[in-house]
Amino acid sequence: MYKIAQIDPAKCSQSKCRLCTLYCPEPNTLLYDEGRNTAFIAIDRCKGCGACLRVCTDIAKRGCIRMVPVEEAQGGFEMAKYGLPGRAPARSPKA
Ligand code: SF4
Ligand code: SF4
Repeated sequence: MYKIAQIDPAKCSQSKCRLCTLYCPEPNTLLYDEGRNTAFIAIDRCKGCGACLRVCTDIAKRGCIRMVPVEEAQGGFEMAKYGLPGRAPARSPKA
């Protein structure tokens, strides 16, 4: 079973520490949304290494991240919805 990280935005937005974003080894995968005040994961890029889970749980002492089966991941393709920081969300090509 392939698991990826999932962030609870309601819990994360109470902390705003951003610590996990410094540790993800994958580029443009664990990002911070200023509008929602929460870290978020582009589930289409997460490799499931668990580094962010350990950072949030053991270092930040927040417990906002858990690993879930990819089939159960909520949020879909985050970058398609929210875009990269400072950029507009990607748009579907016109038919
Ligand atoms: S370490 Fe936890 S509380 Fe801090 S930004 Fe990441 S998910 Fe949010
Ligand atoms: S599980 Fe690993 S690859 Fe996925 S968001 Fe967390 S640190 Fe990044």
